Amino acid sequence: MPDNNRTIDDIVSLAKRRGFVFPSSEIYGGFAGVYDYGPYGTELAHNLKSAWWRQMVGERSDIVGLNSAIFMNPKVWQSSGHTAGFSDPLVECKRCHARERADHLLESISVFADEKMSEEEIGRLFESHKKDIVCGTCGESDFTGVKLFNLLVSSNLGNFTGEKKDDVYLRGETAQGIYVNFKNVSDTMHMKLPFGIAQIGKAFRNEITPRQYILRTREFEQMEMQYFTSPETDMDEFEKLKEYRFNALLSLGLKKENLRWKKHDNLVFYAKEAFDIEYNYPSFGWKELEGIHARGDYDLSVHQNGSGADLSYFDEESGKRFIPHVVESSIGVGRLFLAILSDAYVEEEVRGEKRIVLKLDKRLAPVRIAILPLSKKEELIRGAMGVYKKLKSAHMCAYDDTQSIGKRYRRQDEIGTPYCITYDFDSINDFAVTVRERDSMAQERVKIDELEEYFREKFVP
Ligand code: ATP
Repeated sequence: MPDNNRTIDDIVSLAKRRGFVFPSSEIYGGFAGVYDYGPYGTELAHNLKSAWWRQMVGERSDIVGLNSAIFMNPKVWQSSGHTAGFSDPLVECKRCHARERADHLLESISVFADEKMSEEEIGRLFESHKKDIVCGTCGESDFTGVKLFNLLVSSNLGNFTGEKKDDVYLRGETAQGIYVNFKNVSDTMHMKLPFGIAQIGKAFRNEITPRQYILRTREFEQMEMQYFTSPETDMDEFEKLKEYRFNALLSLGLKKENLRWKKHDNLVFYAKEAFDIEYNYPSFGWKELEGIHARGDYDLSVHQNGSGADLSYFDEESGKRFIPHVVESSIGVGRLFLAILSDAYVEEEVRGEKRIVLKLDKRLAPVRIAILPLSKKEELIRGAMGVYKKLKSAHMCAYDDTQSIGKRYRRQDEIGTPYCITYDFDSINDFAVTVRERDSMAQERVKIDELEEYFREKFVP
């Protein structure tokens, strides 16, 4: 019977043991809020990014891609409002000096709060409840007042004197690179509204409590798409985008019962509507996976004002000139990666033995086909290598001749490999191999000559 009562510890342990995710700089004791992706994690993340790119750019004639730089003119962050308002509410435990987010502490005692409240608002709320809140580190109940803490990470790029000048930030989100290139893209690509610009890239935030594994890290990757519309059609496009993105997540194999919508009750002043798609993470519960927001004309207006460039759009059909409105979708690669692993992780009993298997969508699996000679006999290795060479240019394949065949199957199950090919002594004479399917463990004999066609059908995109 499959058992899906996995905890976050199950996932963390598998991810470490099987080369998906490692703590950053582990041999130096790690580095808070930063993780490295190992060989299989890199493959899985790469497949998730490719799937997103295909859904958001490849299959959309109205969306184009961009790769803007991590460093930007500091004025970008002033105009966007990030230097003044991109902050989380910080409190410190007076006893053990642990720093916590005031909104998260309030939520832990079921008092609604969020990072969009002003310092005064959340300060008052925290004061009135702080006697009921205990420090997660030392258990005492003695906190400082609330201070807003800016999340932008600054650098000394281009500063050789050490004097304090305008801070150069590592971008806090990829979206700003899209807004400042709106004119470049629309001019060079002759795009007509509505159209979107998509990008995947790193973002950096000084998260106060980067504790929930790869859910909240200080360095992470975002996949964002900003869709530019006329003022009249933005809310229609918003509804379409919501539906498109929810279906896109389902098509990656995420289970519907682990996804839900959450409407933002407390909107920032310029937002017209905002929803999150939440995922029910093991041990952590419902957390934001993706944000879908209708942002009005805020973004292009502030950059037009800040830069002096004309970011308006002339609509030939209506003869009107206006600043385009934006609807956006934004999802973190790490949060999607963790959701995908959590839904795929299954422990089941097979013939009295426990097996852990990642039931990943086969197109996402880090390794699609593992080629295993039955034993280390030279003629079997030679034959299996021939099969590997035949398939490796069309699919991500692995060749493995270490340990017993049973152990090798288990290893491939744990990394979610959908097919294992075994080259045995019969293969030498009948020119056929055994193909084992991951989930059913059913085996069938396939002629070596027919393998390419066999897998072409199995991996139809
Ligand atoms: P949260 O409220 O959970 O801090 P947020 O509202 O600040 O998230 P956005 O600014 O809307 O998040 O960022 C868009 C997406 O980027 C999020 O839905 C999430 O998937 C991802 N993301 C944001 N912050 C982080 C982080 N610190 N680590 C990993 N992913 C993140």
